[in-house]
Amino acid sequence: MSRPTCRVTLPRPLLQDFVYGVPEQLAGRVRPGVRVRVPFGPRNEIGLVHRVDDPERGGRRGDPPPARLKPIIEVLDDEPLLGPELLDLCRWVADYYVAPIGLVHRAALPPGMFTARRPSGAPPRMQQVVRLTAELPTLIERERAFGRAGRQREAFETIESMGGSAVIAHLEQQLGFGRSLVHGLVERGLAEIAEETVERDPFESDAPVEPPPATLNSDQAPIVDALRRKLGTAEPGAALIRGVTGSGKTVVYTRVIETALAAGRSALILVPEIGLTPQTVARFRAVFGDGIAVLHSGLSMGERHDAWRALRAGRKRVAIGTRSAVFAPLPALGVIVIDEEHDGSYKQSETPRYHARAVAAVRARREGALLVLGSATPSLESWDNAARGLYDLHELERRATAHPLPEVRLIDRRRPREGRDDGSAGGDAARDDASRILSDELRSAIDRRLRDGRQALLLLNRRGYSTVQQCRACGWIATCPACNVSLTWHRRRARLVCHHCGWEEEAPERCPSCREPELAFGGVGTEQVERVLGETFPAARIARMDVDTTGGKWAHEKILRRVRDREIDVLLGTQMIAKGLDLPGVTLVGVIDADVGLNLPDFRAAERTFQLLAQVAGRAGRGAEPGEVLIQTLRPDHPALRCTLTHDFVGFAAQELADRAGPGYPPHVRLANLVVSGEQETSVADAAGGLADWLTAVIEVAGSESTITMLGPAPCPIDRLRGRWRWHLLLKSTDAGHLGALLRYTAAKDPVGGSNRLEIDRDPESLL
Ligand code: ADP
Ligand code: ZN
Ligand code: ZN
Repeated sequence: MSRPTCRVTLPRPLLQDFVYGVPEQLAGRVRPGVRVRVPFGPRNEIGLVHRVDDPERGGRRGDPPPARLKPIIEVLDDEPLLGPELLDLCRWVADYYVAPIGLVHRAALPPGMFTARRPSGAPPRMQQVVRLTAELPTLIERERAFGRAGRQREAFETIESMGGSAVIAHLEQQLGFGRSLVHGLVERGLAEIAEETVERDPFESDAPVEPPPATLNSDQAPIVDALRRKLGTAEPGAALIRGVTGSGKTVVYTRVIETALAAGRSALILVPEIGLTPQTVARFRAVFGDGIAVLHSGLSMGERHDAWRALRAGRKRVAIGTRSAVFAPLPALGVIVIDEEHDGSYKQSETPRYHARAVAAVRARREGALLVLGSATPSLESWDNAARGLYDLHELERRATAHPLPEVRLIDRRRPREGRDDGSAGGDAARDDASRILSDELRSAIDRRLRDGRQALLLLNRRGYSTVQQCRACGWIATCPACNVSLTWHRRRARLVCHHCGWEEEAPERCPSCREPELAFGGVGTEQVERVLGETFPAARIARMDVDTTGGKWAHEKILRRVRDREIDVLLGTQMIAKGLDLPGVTLVGVIDADVGLNLPDFRAAERTFQLLAQVAGRAGRGAEPGEVLIQTLRPDHPALRCTLTHDFVGFAAQELADRAGPGYPPHVRLANLVVSGEQETSVADAAGGLADWLTAVIEVAGSESTITMLGPAPCPIDRLRGRWRWHLLLKSTDAGHLGALLRYTAAKDPVGGSNRLEIDRDPESLL
């Protein structure tokens, strides 16, 4: 007689799953989506059942005979952690991104699920509730049940008015119904006492939130109507809202979500980084109150589990979270909103390298939910999808408030040869630094804000003091021992730091190579700007916001609160300050150096720069007074800068799409970046060459049928990272299916092998 078998995935970098036998006594409990403990090699591991096979038909060809299978040891969950839809979605992610299925399952669940028997060391906090078990619909029944026990009747009716159940502590402490009254109800057979989990929610941010606008304006209303109509259809599809900063996209999202909730469905909101967008979260909270669960990597494990459990049980029907929230367990999903859909943080940079926007699109389609993408600067991929009619396009061209978009000016920092001093003329070094960093225009604009009691926001997307330390005598440069990049000097900590791997060392007093005492500093970072600002405006209250100043859990919030309370005059920071902030006192936005990201050897460099400038420009003039934006650059003619001047996304996108057609970059083609890495430089180069030959042969077999072209092999722009040398190959195709098939074949055959590693990054966000 054959025994049932099941297929289990393990959280390891393995493409396959494993078959186990189901012992008779566990048969009823082994279901797809539950965790099990299984023998694996010399140890036991926790895995996830993703398929149970019919005992009659057995498993797949090639599986060992059931009699030889090792049995499952233990089942850890009574209810599946992943329902059938999410299991299917995980399968799609594993397939499309050529990712180990067990790692996809781990990514889809709250952390800690595969290391501990019970999820995490944080058991849910429990509280006692009283639940009514009887209905007393008529007055006569009530009289009969309670007689002269008037207080009991009051308690009963209070609980009834609260929806049939109440937290006992709340009844006791807030409403004055003693415990004996509750027990009286239980004794009469009218109620029962039960334990329920308490949802810890640390996101009860006290950030002041303006109430949501009561009425939609004439631009918003038709969009909400259109989206509601789509929501009611069987295949609602997807819509892209391009709305300038401050055009009121949030209220459009919330109205559509309300409609979904009213129809008994649930909603998912994805945001780029919750820590950076506390105001956004607070605004959704203001609308959905306790019905919303916040999923956030900054939360403790216990907090995450609470939120997750509440969603799975349907106690909350709106989830808001970052990338991994795309896997949130939401029954009857009605709508998925992706705010700032262009943001690079939606792509996971390690295995599984999924893009939450792509996963959301698949999920929405499969579950019959509406997908709503919103941005002031949509990704070119989404823009192109809209142009090809795959997404409905809606546009909000004006700010929703009476305040117009700010005026933008470029400050050309190129200097003709005559006027330049080469720094050797002596003079005041501090003043030289200042004039190198702040143009006269920007300096006087800041000065004006200080005199008028207004605030300024200054962006420099590079942290630390200076990014290059070079010996003037011999040319030595401080580089990371593990990565081929220069170290950044952090002045206050007196350390040289690698921004790629975290390596740190003491800053040398003199050149370690030739003992020259003087080192030259290049590449200005926020720490240096902070110093210069302090010296230039000694009376100004300055705050810096970057990774180095926001280590604590809610550090962003604290800095922002001080800005909001006008305890800060000038807020300086990296891209962190560009996102979603609504600070009415800010009338000046200054960009210290717009070219930081523009010169990166990456096909998205221009797009990223335009997005960042548009975002940060959108922070100016959100209050009653008009805003002004000053951008310092050496490349004022670059389209990313020219189009920022007029807030011209459409013009920028047209230019950028044209620029990407020639070399063939997304959205014109689909990309996969294949990175070969290892500890020996020549071995990695050889392996990359071998992979290229192998791929060429495979592609040739397909002959003229193949849509795939290959670029490389070549060293990666960062050719050494964390001690590993890196080469890459780029595969391009107009046909996602062809590309996927080749990638899966490559991963299965693993032609690299040996001590070198092959990583496949499909739809890469960056090629560095
Ligand atoms: P976006 O997300 O597009 O940048 P927001 O949703 O943050 O824009 O809205 C910008 C501001 O406009 C907010 O202060 C919001 O309250 C306000 N606003 C939005 N819609 C309306 C409306 N219909 N009437 C009045 N104010 C509105
Ligand atoms: Zn030297
Ligand atoms: Zn490093």
